[in-house]
Amino acid sequence: MLILPFTDLPDNFHHVSPTNSTRVTSSQRYRLSWTTIIERSDPRFDALTEVFMGEFRPIDTFGVAGTESQEHSVLWFGPADIIARFEANPAAGIPWDEFNQQGVRADRWPNDDAWQQVIPATTWNPDGQGIVAEYSFDDGGSVVVYEMLGRPALLSSGVSKSPNGPTPLVTFHCTRCHEESGHHDRYMSARPDDRRIVCQQARRHMRPGRCGGAEANARNDRMVAVVQEAFGRPVTGSTEGLYAAQCATKDLDPNGILVSSSCAEVREARTHTARHHATAGERA
Ligand SMILES: [Zn+2]
Ligand SMILES: [Zn+2]
Repeated sequence: MLILPFTDLPDNFHHVSPTNSTRVTSSQRYRLSWTTIIERSDPRFDALTEVFMGEFRPIDTFGVAGTESQEHSVLWFGPADIIARFEANPAAGIPWDEFNQQGVRADRWPNDDAWQQVIPATTWNPDGQGIVAEYSFDDGGSVVVYEMLGRPALLSSGVSKSPNGPTPLVTFHCTRCHEESGHHDRYMSARPDDRRIVCQQARRHMRPGRCGGAEANARNDRMVAVVQEAFGRPVTGSTEGLYAAQCATKDLDPNGILVSSSCAEVREARTHTARHHATAGERA
């Protein structure tokens, strides 16, 4: 098993279904996250090849490559020697041409028990902290999908026990209405499918009428003012921007259970992404 170093794909373009704007069907660019070779002599061979249909089902030793984008994943499988040559000398570059010309591509990485033991857990960002995707409104603000360490409310498929301590999670926040999403939208980030599901929710929030926008802000500004008054700190003058300001200065609590997403978390994720890009730049 070879695990590739982190590569971000900023400004990657995703294609969506013509009938459902939230369903991503493929992306312009993918990164290679891991490769491995499954030997014919592997006792798990039958279980691992079971997921491949008919003529595509390998009958001998084969190579596998896990490629993914922010919102999509593709499993390549084909001649083992392509993977063996690459693993022997990764510095020579990823054999994208050979992947295109030989082997088979399957939508998503397999998800059954046998493959879950082979495929490593992945996050989009190193250490699971940083920006995953961002969708901008025409008139300002955006919906941001990001990873951070915390307590996920929803576990990855195949994971039955909540991990001890903070673990990578993926969630989203709307910097325009600050409303959508809550602690129930915090997914464990261990597989591309985890990121895909949160990105789909973020895309749904971009649909007309979904974002509360300025109206939601005004309503929440009044609510904050009422609460402050109740605590003996009445707001004098305009209440505009109170809610957004609260969102930007929320405590970052990696151990919190009922935490909801915030601009404070988004800012923290941006800091991590800037650091990852700087480190990747030094390495290149
Ligand atoms: Zn919104
Ligand atoms: Zn916010």
